[in-house]
Amino acid sequence: MTTEQTPDHRSRRSRSAFKLLSGYLWRDRPLLIRSVLLLLVATALDVTGPLLAKVFIDDYLIPQQLDGTMLLVLLAGYLFSQAGAAWLGYRQTLGFTEIALNAVQDIRERVFAHTLKLPMRYFDTAMSGQLVSRITNDTEAIKDLYVQFLSVVLGNLMLLIGILIAMALLDSQLMLAALALIPTVFGVIYLYEKFSGAAVQKARSLRSDINAQLSESIAGMSVLQACNQQQRFSQRFDGVNQHYYRARMSSIRASAALLRPAIDLLSVLVLIAVVWLFGLQVEAGVAEVGVLYAFLSFLGRFTEPLAEITQRFNLYQQAMVAGERVNRLLAEPAQQFSHAQAQITAGKVQVRDLHFGYQAEKPVLNGLNFTIEPGQFYAVVGHTGSGKSTLLSLLLNFYQPDQGSIALDDQPLDQFGHDLLREGIGLIPQEPFIMAGSIRTNIDMGRGLTDSAIETAARQAHLHGMISQLADGYHTGLGERGTRLSTGQRQQLVIARALAASPKILLLDEATANVDSETEQVVQQALHELHGKVTLITVAHRLSTIKRADQILVLAHGEVCERGNHSQLMARENGRYQSMYRLQRQAQKVARRS
Ligand code: ATP
Ligand code: MG
Repeated sequence: MTTEQTPDHRSRRSRSAFKLLSGYLWRDRPLLIRSVLLLLVATALDVTGPLLAKVFIDDYLIPQQLDGTMLLVLLAGYLFSQAGAAWLGYRQTLGFTEIALNAVQDIRERVFAHTLKLPMRYFDTAMSGQLVSRITNDTEAIKDLYVQFLSVVLGNLMLLIGILIAMALLDSQLMLAALALIPTVFGVIYLYEKFSGAAVQKARSLRSDINAQLSESIAGMSVLQACNQQQRFSQRFDGVNQHYYRARMSSIRASAALLRPAIDLLSVLVLIAVVWLFGLQVEAGVAEVGVLYAFLSFLGRFTEPLAEITQRFNLYQQAMVAGERVNRLLAEPAQQFSHAQAQITAGKVQVRDLHFGYQAEKPVLNGLNFTIEPGQFYAVVGHTGSGKSTLLSLLLNFYQPDQGSIALDDQPLDQFGHDLLREGIGLIPQEPFIMAGSIRTNIDMGRGLTDSAIETAARQAHLHGMISQLADGYHTGLGERGTRLSTGQRQQLVIARALAASPKILLLDEATANVDSETEQVVQQALHELHGKVTLITVAHRLSTIKRADQILVLAHGEVCERGNHSQLMARENGRYQSMYRLQRQAQKVARRS
């Protein structure tokens, strides 16, 4: 996912990231102002220390006027200023951390909420690991910006200014020599950013590749091990890891070569200049030893903030890269749903001249036409890849047709608001999705159903018997992806989930995985009982399950090539359905004999 690197692009992108990040500062401005004020006072107290020492040296020590009370006052002042600086420094860090954690929490919620609203099309190409890394790592990098970058950089910047002011009070000539350090250091930062910017960005994008590969491997562990792919996956992982290592090394090399040594060298040069200037003052007979002491102690503290600021710069870069990526995700257009209040009341489905393709050049559906009256049982069959699941996705408005229309109860599909559409249509997908949680939560799916509604749905799916034999009944926990259940039971659970909302239209994408004939009977029985009550559209792989269908649509190359009920289709000479049915019967007989 590396994108263009032109300077113009980069600056535009960091500007958008900057807007996202600064928005939170504005939102929390009372806290921000308080933290900055604390920081100001802490800095003022901090630089008072050496000033007091200067007073002690020049006014008391050198003239040998060691007055007891005055010394005590100076000592107390010194202790108070240093302790106060430490305490206030702690308080301001807390303040910035609070702003940071608020911001991260909010960004994370926003990103996740937005992800949930993205159209299905987005997930066709998105890698789940990358999305996860957007929501976790990238938002974490943004937090670093606030805590580390803001509090450390702002703090050190103020310390620098404080020191400069204190220096100016002591001796403006010497202060100017120290001041020369600042533009030089910023020159170094500029060079650093120039050399390491691209490497930092690359490292981050590789890190999300690492996440993506890990989550892919873990999700597909059984296939991976069964196909003996461990070595290949591990090599592929090593490859990305190696890339990451190189990208990190090159960014670190830039910083190690440039930052610390360069700044240390510069500060030694300034030290020499200060001592030399002081030497001139001694010759002129205007020098004060206390001033030299204070300067040396300030200079010692001077390079530290500069080094800190430069080193935090890569945090700033990382946060900008992360902010930009989060921003890009937030800018993905969410799926739009109408606010119209159309409701599915009867369950009539009308499909007119439906054309659709995932990619423009590869049409999947080529002009489908059919009308299903409320309560009818329709079956869709066809070879694998003929577009059966795609048709169901279109009926659910997951994707929008390229041409033609879909109407429910004589109203166009886009007239239905999101909630009302999902209430009216139930989906039993080809791959049942089970969440980690109890059986009850898996049927309820956050809809707040009553116990009796859940039990009714489970009975309709012929699952109640099995559940009541479990020690914990409906509260039995299911592992992630429902590995505790058999494939057939998972299918039944998903049927119960779909039925629990009492939909008017039920879409069923029959699992291709082999379900034993007993479970198949149960599923079939459950569907048979619904016949006439809800409009049923079933994608069938086992043709024996749809003998009772009112109408069977046979899909081939995105078109309906045959339609009719089971006996009509069986009566057709050389019909596609007939030959599919014969083939399956033979296969079953062979299977039974063996
Ligand atoms: P099966 O019987 O195996 O379930 P199907 O009839 O349900 O097959 P679909 O899943 O509708 O087939 O797929 C129809 C075509 O669209 C296939 O060629 C498939 O490669 C393609 N396709 C399906 N989903 C996507 C997607 N998300 N992005 C791009 N192409 C897709
Ligand atoms: Mg399918």
